[in-house]
Amino acid sequence: MNVDVLIVGAGFAGSVSARVLAEAGRQVLVIDKRDHIGGNAFDTYDEHGVLIHPYGPHIFHTNAKRIIEWLSRFTEWRFYEHRVLASVDGQLLPIPINRTTLNRLYGQNLDETGAAAWLEKVREPRDPIRTSEDVVLNSVGRDLCDKFFRGYTRKQWGLDLSELSAGVAARIPTRTNDDDRYFTDTYQFMPRDGYTAMFRRMLDHPNITVQLSTDYFALRDHLQVNHTVYTGPIDAFFDYCFGRLPYRSLRFEHQHFPNTVQFQPVGTVNYPNEHAYTRITEFKHITGQTHSGTSIVREYPQPEGDPYYPIPRPENDALFKRYEALAQKRVEVTFVGRLAQYRYYNMDQVVAAALQMASKIKS
Ligand code: FAD
Ligand code: UDP
Repeated sequence: MNVDVLIVGAGFAGSVSARVLAEAGRQVLVIDKRDHIGGNAFDTYDEHGVLIHPYGPHIFHTNAKRIIEWLSRFTEWRFYEHRVLASVDGQLLPIPINRTTLNRLYGQNLDETGAAAWLEKVREPRDPIRTSEDVVLNSVGRDLCDKFFRGYTRKQWGLDLSELSAGVAARIPTRTNDDDRYFTDTYQFMPRDGYTAMFRRMLDHPNITVQLSTDYFALRDHLQVNHTVYTGPIDAFFDYCFGRLPYRSLRFEHQHFPNTVQFQPVGTVNYPNEHAYTRITEFKHITGQTHSGTSIVREYPQPEGDPYYPIPRPENDALFKRYEALAQKRVEVTFVGRLAQYRYYNMDQVVAAALQMASKIKS
């Protein structure tokens, strides 16, 4: 079979690339080994009629106007600012740590200047900042580090904070004001009809064919392809020739409560120190759906299973670089996305990477 452009993966990386290339006049075949489009951002109604994210909560946020504008071709939006509380010492406290967190945890009445002075007193200055432990100790000191970050990180990654690159914990800021939003990006919206509907419209183009439940590795020897856009794990593409790149997996435990309008006060509650799961998310907060019942998901980190997170640490980056060097020699293949680029990308960053990559191979 002859294919002009083969796209492996129907998540953000694959679907955005498909649309750009189709609009440039290329004939595109998108395959995914799963039986649905959207990759990990896929959403669907559960058997009780609640819109859920089967692969964990996905909240869209970006500072890039051109990214939200590009996606706006395929969806309307619902304004949503995510809020997270952490269960610490018997209380539910704002995370990122802010003035309220400090006052409630330590029974104080600090104003903003007082909160800044408190953090200045407890922080352990670190220079250079190499690991996630450096980041956290440098900003909030040991007690807050141990209460909010060390246990969560151990569960999520199976590693100590000191074994992870700085970028992981640096995703979480520290605040001295009362801002309790998880993100401060300029644009914070959810696709009004859900992610899957947005993907469906993106892939709805006469030059795009989508074939689901199709594994690239069962197919690749039987196709003649002008160009491939590969968005799966990069080590799999090269038959693990340098060994396996570590990815962290999750088990999602979904639960529905009939006749319960609200399960918890905010979208997500983090459990840094109790339970085997890291967090519980209640979808109705995020989607704005009204329903007489409610659905939640608990996330249990796992060493094995579907690859969800690249694990940012120097030795893994070094192994990735070896695969990347092989990838650079394959001019007929473009590697893009969270798994193919082995980067802890948010959705908007994947869209940006795909727009950039696809515009290079348009013609
Ligand atoms: P994916 O979505 O993983 O898509 C890759 C696709 O390739 C998959 O569908 C896979 O089935 C397919 N594939 C792989 N190998 C093959 C093969 N051999 N043959 C055929 N198909 C194949 N980002 C945010 O911005 N906000 C959030 O709130 C957020 N929350 C997250 C929560 C969780 C639990 C996780 C895991 C991620 C979260 N993300 C979030 C990140 C977001 O999921 C990713 O940035 C984005 O979905 C990555 O898109 P992608 O296309 O690169 O990869
Ligand atoms: N983190 C933590 N405690 C928290 C929240 C986050 O220790 O309450 C650390 C943890 O290492 C986590 C990382 O910060 O993996 C990034 O958190 P984020 O919420 O961005 O993770 P994601 O939503 O990508 O799973």
